[in-house]
Amino acid sequence: MEIDFSKSAHGLIPAIIQDSETKNVLMLGYMNAESYQKTLDTQKVTFYSRSKQRLWTKGEESGNFLHLVSIKNDCDNDTFLIQVRPEGPTCHTGLDTCWQEANNQEYGFISTLESTIKTRRENADSEKSYVASLFEKGINKIAQKVGEEAVEVVIEAKDDNDDLFLSESADLLFHYLILLQAKGFQLEDVVQVLKSRQK
Ligand code: AMP
Ligand code: ZN
Ligand code: ZN
Ligand code: ZN
Repeated sequence: MEIDFSKSAHGLIPAIIQDSETKNVLMLGYMNAESYQKTLDTQKVTFYSRSKQRLWTKGEESGNFLHLVSIKNDCDNDTFLIQVRPEGPTCHTGLDTCWQEANNQEYGFISTLESTIKTRRENADSEKSYVASLFEKGINKIAQKVGEEAVEVVIEAKDDNDDLFLSESADLLFHYLILLQAKGFQLEDVVQVLKSRQK
C-alpha cells in the first residue's frame, strides 16, 4: 500500500532516518508528497521543514547530504523508515546523529565493555578495581600487559587446547581495549582505519 499524505496531519509524514550500514538512527524529519518525490528524483533526502516552511534538502548548506538507499513504510502506512548513506555528520551540532549518546553501541557487548572500562577508570577505587589499578600504573604497564597476553595467545595457538586459546584471546582483547582507552582511542577508531583500507 502507498502512503496517503492527504490522510495525515498537514500532509506531513514522519521519516525516521537510519544509517544503512551502522543501523544508527540519525535524525527524524517530516515529508510531504512533494519532498518525497524530490527525494526519489534526486536520491538525496528532502524534507518539508516546518520551521523554514519550505522543502529542505538535508545538506543544502552544509554539504552533509543523506544519500538515499531505501524507503520502507511502517505496518500501517503512516511513517517512513529511510535508510541512507550519510555524507558527513547528520546533526547540525556536528555529531554523527541527533542522539549521539544512545547510538554508540555499534559493537554490541564490546561497546558495553568499553563503557564499563571508562566508568572504572573515572570512578573506581584502584584498590578494588583491577581496571582502575591498571590505569593508575600507567601506559607502559598497560602496554606490557598487552604484550604478555599476546605472547600467551601465541603459545596457546600452537597447542590443541581450545579453551585456553579462547581464554587468552579474551585476556588479550580486554587488555587491548584498556590500552586503546589509555591512548585516548576506542575500537571505532581502529575500525575506521580498517574501513579506509577497503578501497
Ligand atoms: P543542512 O541541511 O545540513 O545544510 O543544514 C541547514 C540547517 O538545517 C542548519 O543550519 C540547521 O538549522 C538545520 N539542520 C541541519 N541538520 C539538522 C538536523 N539533523 N536536525 C534538525 N535541524 C537540522
Ligand atoms: Zn504507523
Ligand atoms: Zn541534531
Ligand atoms: Zn592471559
